[in-house]
Amino acid sequence: MIKWNSWTRNLGACVLVTALVLPITLESAAAATPATSNGASTSTSVTSSAYSSDGGSAASMVATSATTPVNTDLPNIKILATGGTIAGSSTSNTDVTGYQAGALGIDALINAVPEMKDIANVSGEQIANVGSPDIDNAVLLKLAKRINELLASDDVDGVVVTHGTDTLEETAYFLNLVVKSKKPVVVVGAMRPATAISADGPFNLYNAVKIAGTPEASGKGVMIELNDRIGAARYITKTNTTGTDTFKSTEQGYLGVVSGDKVYFYNEPTRKHTADTVFDISKLTELPQVDILYEYENNGSYLYDAAVAAGAKGIVVAGSGNGSLSKLSKAGALKAIASGTAIVRSTRTGSGVVTHSDEDDQNGMISSDSLNPQKARILLMLALTQTKDPKQIQTFFDQY
Ligand code: ASP
Repeated sequence: MIKWNSWTRNLGACVLVTALVLPITLESAAAATPATSNGASTSTSVTSSAYSSDGGSAASMVATSATTPVNTDLPNIKILATGGTIAGSSTSNTDVTGYQAGALGIDALINAVPEMKDIANVSGEQIANVGSPDIDNAVLLKLAKRINELLASDDVDGVVVTHGTDTLEETAYFLNLVVKSKKPVVVVGAMRPATAISADGPFNLYNAVKIAGTPEASGKGVMIELNDRIGAARYITKTNTTGTDTFKSTEQGYLGVVSGDKVYFYNEPTRKHTADTVFDISKLTELPQVDILYEYENNGSYLYDAAVAAGAKGIVVAGSGNGSLSKLSKAGALKAIASGTAIVRSTRTGSGVVTHSDEDDQNGMISSDSLNPQKARILLMLALTQTKDPKQIQTFFDQY
C-alpha cells in the first residue's frame, strides 16, 4: 500500500480526475511554452495537472490563492516560479523521465505544501514556466530584477526560486553575482515530477522556504537546496542525470543541511557574492553573447570562427585536463582574441582548478579557476558588461 506524501496525495487525485475527464487550464502557469523533460518545446496545452491542497473541486483548482494569511511572527517569503521538474506533471505516477516539465503553476505548488504556512507567510509569482534548458538571458534578467525589487522591500525577508535542475546552477550563480541584498535567496528544484510516487519536490520546497526564513542564512550568497543539502551557488553542480542526490559539492563542500526540521550551517562561501560584486543589471536589457566550445581529439578551428561570426563576444572552452587546447583549437582561439572576442579556458574534467599561466597572459587568455564551463559562461557574460580587458576579466575570475 503506497503512503502518499502531501504532494502526491493532493496531486494524485487531481491528476487522475483531470486527465481522464476534466481538463482544466491552469491560469497562472501560462507564462511560457511548456517543455518536455528533455527540454524540447511542446505546444501541448497545460490541462491535466492543476491541483489544490484540498485535492479538490474544479473551482478550487482554478481559483487557488498564492497567499497565505499573514502571521506577524513568521518570516515573509516570496516564491518565484520558473518551471522545471518540480512543476512537472505526467498522467502516470511512475513516470520520472517522460513527463512534462514546467506544467504546474505557482499556486499549485504552494497549495500542495500547506505545511509551509506553519513556518512562513508565503506568496508566489510566476516568472516563467519552462524546462530549464529553455531558461535564457531574458528570463535571467527578469528574475534577477524582480528579486532585487522584492528584497529591497521591508515586507520580504527572503526569496525562493523554483527551477528545473538541468541549468539550475547557472541561474543560481547568475543570481549569486547580481542580487544586491544579504537576505537569503534559495533556488530549489526536484528530480521527480510532482505526479511521481515519492516526489522530492514538496519537501525540497518546504526546506527551501525554511532556509530562506532562517536569519543565519543571511549573507551566504545564493543557495541551492535539494536532497536536504544546502549548497553554495558558486560551488555546487548537477552530477547525475536522474538521481535525486544529483547536486554535489565535492571539492568545496556544502554550506549546511536540513535535518530533523532544523537548518544547520557549517561553512561560509569564501568567494565574493551578491552585494559585494561590481555587477549591476538594473539597467541592462540584454547580456553579451558567450558560447561554450568543447575540446576533443581531432578538433579544428572552425567552431571558433562560427561562434565569432554568430556574434560571440566571449567563448568559454571546456578544455581537456587543466584547460588544454589542441594546436588547431588554440589557433582558432587566438584568431578569435585578435578579433576582440574574450577566451576563457575552463575544463571538461568536472572538477579542479584551471591554473593561470604566463602563456595565458602572453595570449590574452583568461583561466576559469574552479568554475565549470557553464558557470564560467555566466561570469564572462557579466564581466563583459564591465570591460573587454582580459587582465581585468581575470581579476573577476580570481575573486568570484
Ligand atoms: N529534468 C529537469 C529537472 O530536473 C528538467 C528541467 O531542468 O527543467 O527539472
